[in-house]
Amino acid sequence: MALNTVYVTSKILEYAPKEAGITRVEYEGPNIAVYSTNPAVLIQHGYLLTEIANKLKKRVIVRPEPDVRLPVEEASDKIKEILEPQGKSPDCYFDPVKGEVVLYLNEPLNSSLTPEISLDIVSKTRWFPTFRRYSPPLSMTIKKIFSVNSYIEKERRKFLLGLGNRIFRIPMNPSRDVRLKVLGGGQEVGRSAFLFSTSETNLVVDFGIKLGVSSRMHAYPRVDLDEFNLDELDAVIVTHAHLDHCGLIPFLYKHGFEGPVYSTEPTLPLMVLLQLDFIEIAKRNSQTPPYTVSDVEKMIYHSISLKYGQVTDISPDVKLTFHNAGHVLGSAMVHLHVTEGVHNVIFTGDFKYSPTMLFDAAYSNFTRGETLIMESTYGADEDIAPARSEAEDILLTEINDILGKGGKVLMPVPAVGRAQEVLVLFDNLLREGKMTETPIFVDGMIDESNAIHISYTEYLSSDLKSLILDQGINPFLSEHFVNVENASQRDEAMDDKPCIIVSTSGMMEGGPVLEYFKKFAGDEKNTLLFLSYQVSGTLGRRLLDGMRNVVMAEKDKMITLNVNSNIKKIDGFSGHSDRKQLMAYMKRTAPMVKNLFLVHGEPLKTTSLAQNARKTLRINAKALQNLQTVPLT
Ligand SMILES: [Zn+2]
Repeated sequence: MALNTVYVTSKILEYAPKEAGITRVEYEGPNIAVYSTNPAVLIQHGYLLTEIANKLKKRVIVRPEPDVRLPVEEASDKIKEILEPQGKSPDCYFDPVKGEVVLYLNEPLNSSLTPEISLDIVSKTRWFPTFRRYSPPLSMTIKKIFSVNSYIEKERRKFLLGLGNRIFRIPMNPSRDVRLKVLGGGQEVGRSAFLFSTSETNLVVDFGIKLGVSSRMHAYPRVDLDEFNLDELDAVIVTHAHLDHCGLIPFLYKHGFEGPVYSTEPTLPLMVLLQLDFIEIAKRNSQTPPYTVSDVEKMIYHSISLKYGQVTDISPDVKLTFHNAGHVLGSAMVHLHVTEGVHNVIFTGDFKYSPTMLFDAAYSNFTRGETLIMESTYGADEDIAPARSEAEDILLTEINDILGKGGKVLMPVPAVGRAQEVLVLFDNLLREGKMTETPIFVDGMIDESNAIHISYTEYLSSDLKSLILDQGINPFLSEHFVNVENASQRDEAMDDKPCIIVSTSGMMEGGPVLEYFKKFAGDEKNTLLFLSYQVSGTLGRRLLDGMRNVVMAEKDKMITLNVNSNIKKIDGFSGHSDRKQLMAYMKRTAPMVKNLFLVHGEPLKTTSLAQNARKTLRINAKALQNLQTVPLT
């Protein structure tokens, strides 16, 4: 039995009005769920829930009893009827486990009317509405997540109840020991994975794959260790949706993991998109993927999505909070608070400590954080990026120049992150009349990733949010953008005329960018233009390092490609902090940090940054290695 269930129930019954019809109280994952036959009453007395939550120091949520909810189709009709006077016709997606309905609207609802309309919907349907803005059509990945969660409703419900009892269990071994073990991402970029342990809890932060490496020993996190026991793992926490941080999470479910994976709301659909594509690419290359679609589905129904700043119990002695990392949509810094403040740990994940087109700068207002585990991708002396405006000027001149000479610009970009950054920039430059007008072909999963971005506008920078919500402009849908959806559009992009092609994958490890590259590489008028970091071993990195004869698969045979096109990288667009920003972040957090560990960087970059931090900031910074274990308390 979990901690104090009887006490919790009696407290709630004591505070709540009789007419709310409270039937039961359950631990549901990290929350306390109060079931009611008349949930509208509890909404009207919202302050009561806040009081109860404050008393219990737990998150309390209201759930309508399943047998008082209107059947889904009737509820859907009723909701449309309620919203009709507002001129809105939402797409409704029901979550039967939670009794919630997400209403997708292509125009925002007047915010002053939202509380009243929500209450009306709860009273008449006994489903709780959440309003989301989007540009049709709705992302296929988001639809897939809804469908997985409703067809395995029973398993998901069982999982959440079991998890609740596990999180609120009475601690068995209270002690003050806290440890960190590096499973991957120590003095390397790729396969980030950290095992964080207290005497009571075992957590994994990130579980990525290293691309461009064929042996499993070097591509997967080091889980071939006695300390790593899936049965004793309480949870997986994901910082953001890039494969080097989340690429192997379904692999854990394949091998029997049954615990939760915590992420921010947009990270879930973005990582599902990348993982499903990863399976496809492996199959296309005649390789066996490390997991199947059904393992990704298992991960989906074990997922718990949180908002930035939402403090959440994830075990008897650890609370988790995500904060904006400014790197990609939903990217998060992970703050772990161990028992009554014994210790506080911050994992930065990948982060950008300055504003970009898409996001505000990474969060830095932590009040407690004795241990900081920080990325160091651009940690070397020379990794000083030009100012953003300077980088934009360089890019603009470069592109106008290539197009003016009749060439094509091929830009390999990751589907999540740089793709949206570059599209928003091109949209701006075209609207300001600065960039030569030309078709911009967008190929790969970028369109789907854009659809996810537009469903989570609250995670975008204030400027972009106001452009989308107040001015009704969708910056991912400029009239100059052509989404490549069929062979004839791809042929058009490949003809002789100048154009720009923005395509995945970002490090040229697969995806349609390779087809364009084969076609354009021979012509010196064309340019292969990188804006993002290229991991060593990938084709992108080898080309940047000077390789000009490339052996590639073409249908069933191998061909050698002589590369005559220009190959360039423009710095200043990265979603990572440069050396100056990394130093600034360390300086900002220095007063509270006792242990500073640097990870996620090539050996020379990580060690150089650690040295500089010790010398100029007098901080005891250390570069961690894979398999190293460090005590934190
Ligand atoms: Zn990343």
